[in-house]
Amino acid sequence: MTDNKHILAQLGSVSTDEFFLPLPKGYQKGKTRYVIVVGTVMSGLGKGIFSSCLAKLLQDKGLKVAPIKLEGYLNIDSGTLNPFRHGEVFVLDDGMETDMDLGTYERMLDQNLTRANFSTSGQVYRSVLDKERHGEYLGRDVQMIPHVTGEVKLRLRELAVKADADVVFVEIGGTVGDLENAFYIEAMRELAYEEGPHSCCFVALTYILEPHALGEQKSKAAQLGIKQLMQTGIQPDIIACRAENEVTETALQKISVFGNVPAERVFSMHDSASIYSIPAMLRDCGLDFEVLRMLRIEDRTKLRFERKEWERWCDFTDKLGKENKEVTIGITGKYTSVRDSYASILNALEHAGIHLGCTVNVNWIETSEVTDKNADRLLNQVDGIIVPGGFGSRGMEGKISSVRYARENHIPYLGLCLGFQAAVIEYARNVCGLSDADSTEVNPQCKAPVIDVLPEQKKIEGLGGNMRLGGQDVTIKPDTLAWRLFGKVESVRLRFRHRYEVDPQYIDTLEQKGLVFSGKSPTQPIMQILELPDHPFFMGTQAHPELTSRPLQPQPMFVALVAAAIRRRYAQADAALPEDAVRAVCRVC
Ligand code: GLN
Repeated sequence: MTDNKHILAQLGSVSTDEFFLPLPKGYQKGKTRYVIVVGTVMSGLGKGIFSSCLAKLLQDKGLKVAPIKLEGYLNIDSGTLNPFRHGEVFVLDDGMETDMDLGTYERMLDQNLTRANFSTSGQVYRSVLDKERHGEYLGRDVQMIPHVTGEVKLRLRELAVKADADVVFVEIGGTVGDLENAFYIEAMRELAYEEGPHSCCFVALTYILEPHALGEQKSKAAQLGIKQLMQTGIQPDIIACRAENEVTETALQKISVFGNVPAERVFSMHDSASIYSIPAMLRDCGLDFEVLRMLRIEDRTKLRFERKEWERWCDFTDKLGKENKEVTIGITGKYTSVRDSYASILNALEHAGIHLGCTVNVNWIETSEVTDKNADRLLNQVDGIIVPGGFGSRGMEGKISSVRYARENHIPYLGLCLGFQAAVIEYARNVCGLSDADSTEVNPQCKAPVIDVLPEQKKIEGLGGNMRLGGQDVTIKPDTLAWRLFGKVESVRLRFRHRYEVDPQYIDTLEQKGLVFSGKSPTQPIMQILELPDHPFFMGTQAHPELTSRPLQPQPMFVALVAAAIRRRYAQADAALPEDAVRAVCRVC
């Protein structure tokens, strides 16, 4: 590596030479190190899972870590992506709509992320083009290198400053060789050159094939993938081999030789029953210390802190596989064939289940098939029902029938966003006698639009900015179930992504007939949580509580749902009430 002093000397001057190095204010070279994770052979290897688990191990040692996902697509955010193609849209507290991997990072690191942790090619190009229009390139012809790659590096360094990070974890979407990600990879090569030796650690995640017909592991595709990475001028420092079964010594040795990486830095990262056992897997093979050594930051670790954090984590993982109860939750939804489109809900259920010692099975229910008549046949096997979020009119009647079935048959129910709206419509129709009740999203002409776009939001409709997004405070009504579940606090923060809400003119009617709105916006007449007092557990929320469930901090509404499902399944009146279960396992507010 070169000594890069001459590059840093260019800072601040209007440069006519080839070194283009925009640095954010306050950036200290050498303070932040970078772990860069790329994939070869195929996408979907779990780069986000790997990177978040490794980041967690370093965080547990007292280091400040900040992840960033670099997406190749041109969309500015993930808001317009179809969850069926790309997995769920994850919403951050600051309202950014991102890839589902950000959810993995938030859960693993137990940390709220911001838009600084997520970048798409669209964002990068947009900001380069904006700068060009503002004359910021001082007469230069604007090029992929150095300007676009410079913008990528700028983003990483801005994150480093903002997060005061010891280590920034960079996950590059897609695989090496994709045209759309090529400039990210080039930017990483430049970053390592500029930051100097021991500043960057490149991890290549690859895949070892094991065709059934052969019955043995084959490493050729992995070797070729690594070679392709090396052709970009990047020598991997660590190779993590994904595989179905533990990777054999022979395959690891081959990868080591062909990849130019010492054998002690080539690891097997085979399939594991739970992602929560992966940190221990990486720790057992010494990956955490290997990375610290390579980055020369062993002296920044606090081992006493680590002992405590690791113990806390192991208290949780010790519960894995020890479940002695089992319940089935029916989820009605549109994207039922793809688990990724409901990733956070599945995670939230898993967190609740692990803490309650209960395996939570999921029964996917094709909503468009459910009617009042056949609901019993389709739903009588489940111990609880979730109607999740969604957009558009498809399957809405089936969702409303599912809510009715849950309400009338005392089946634990949790409605998430659209599931909250479906519960309001069902109550308005079948209890309040408003037989034409509907949402204007489904039926713009309906006579009783209990769910509608509010007037103040209609005004900004044409501007494309009328989605209510991100974290919002919710005022909790005292002495309600929500109040008890959240630890008797006045206010909680939940995440939102919706356009429609309860029309305030129907609130009195609904409440007079027994529906309780236990969570409201502190500043506007927006209903955010509903519940039914005379039901084992019936709750809906305009929010997406699944987005804020964490392994060490399960979300109370999900814990309550699973606890109520356990009571129902085992017909034990003396089993914990949902609110008692929540008190036992949640560190609420
Ligand atoms: N489609 C509904 C709305 O826009 C619900 C949104 C959701 O479930 N995320 O309000």
